[in-house]
Amino acid sequence: MKVFNRNNIRKNLKETLNIYAFLHHTPWKSSKIMALFILGLVLVGSGVYYVNSTDNAVSVSVNGTEVGLVADVKLEEELSASIDGVKLAIDNKPIFILPNQEDVQKLLQAFQQIYVQKTDANQVDTVSFEEKVETRSVEVAPEEVLTMEEALEKLKQGDVRQEEYVVQPDDSWWLIARKNEMRTSEVLASNPGVNEDTVLQIGQTINLVKVLPYLTVIAEGIRTETKTIPFDVVTKLDPSLASGETKITQQGSDGEKEVKYAYTQKNDKIMTKNILDEQVLKDVVSQVVMKGPQRMPIVIASSRGSGQLASSMIWPLAGRINSYYGYREGEFHTGLDINGYQGDPYVAAATGTVVSAGWDGNYGNSILIDHGNGIFTRYAHSSMLLVSEGQKVSKGQTIGLVGSTGRSTGPHLHFEVIINGDFANPLNYLR
Ligand SMILES: [Zn+2]
Repeated sequence: MKVFNRNNIRKNLKETLNIYAFLHHTPWKSSKIMALFILGLVLVGSGVYYVNSTDNAVSVSVNGTEVGLVADVKLEEELSASIDGVKLAIDNKPIFILPNQEDVQKLLQAFQQIYVQKTDANQVDTVSFEEKVETRSVEVAPEEVLTMEEALEKLKQGDVRQEEYVVQPDDSWWLIARKNEMRTSEVLASNPGVNEDTVLQIGQTINLVKVLPYLTVIAEGIRTETKTIPFDVVTKLDPSLASGETKITQQGSDGEKEVKYAYTQKNDKIMTKNILDEQVLKDVVSQVVMKGPQRMPIVIASSRGSGQLASSMIWPLAGRINSYYGYREGEFHTGLDINGYQGDPYVAAATGTVVSAGWDGNYGNSILIDHGNGIFTRYAHSSMLLVSEGQKVSKGQTIGLVGSTGRSTGPHLHFEVIINGDFANPLNYLR
């Protein structure tokens, strides 16, 4: 006697059903029709199979003898609905099921082409995935199978995951974003109802909705690009001009060069760049500006109309200097970072009028004070501002509290001195 196992029966029934579907142009997907059909096939068919259905099991017998197969009640549905597919797994995690291998290959190629396009100017040597990509043939319900286009859409969107984050001391929305390789706007969007000014409490739990790519395309090649060489501005002193007056004596113009470089790329990010060749196509012309002599504004009018020459600025906050004015790590630091504790009061360095007091991008909560004679001071990253626009402030008056708002990694006061529109070293003016 032929012993039927589950797979044999599945196979037999499926073949019969395929023929049935072909003859009757009945779509596979109609599981009701198929369930009825199987029942009919089993009962009316050869008389060899019969199905004894109870509440929780279906047993298949041959010539009155049970053949040792006890199928689950889902067998009918499963049989009526299962089709062949190819399961795509990324780093051992099943992601999608596609109709066939060909579609999987089309999908992977289409995803690579989003980031890597071979052109005359882009010679691509290798393209691969960072993750382990595997496929396996499976039998599944038709609704589990995605079309190539649907799968590509999902790949492009990435894997959306929600995580929780516990607020640490000195955290700001900006810092949390930076710690998690997100944008501030993305962190804010993960927490409906908050904005950049919403105060964070230490220990508070916030949400981070991260979008992680399923696949990382790695490419290597050689690219040729035409780049603009921006002209620089050379300022020269002309004592014949009035103070603060400028005159352009040579108009600058941008140059152009062709740069050839070897690169490695991960999705849309260039990871390494190695310049192989550079050719100037068009020379750059510097702009030359003559400038009148600058008043040396070490003295500041402290009280309007008093006619008295004032003393210099005072330190807005007593504390260690965390960072000086000038270049640091390739970036120009426009002020002095004075260390402080969250909530420490700081004072106006000199008498003046508040030009602005409020949120100012990377400066966070910031105050700008006009001291006259083209001299301004700025106080950034405050936790609280105690003055408002238009207000007159005197030297030594408390104007705000130290904080870590805006682009800041900890509580400190970023103090700037601006003279005739240029940043100046605060240490030259503080006494
Ligand atoms: Zn700073």
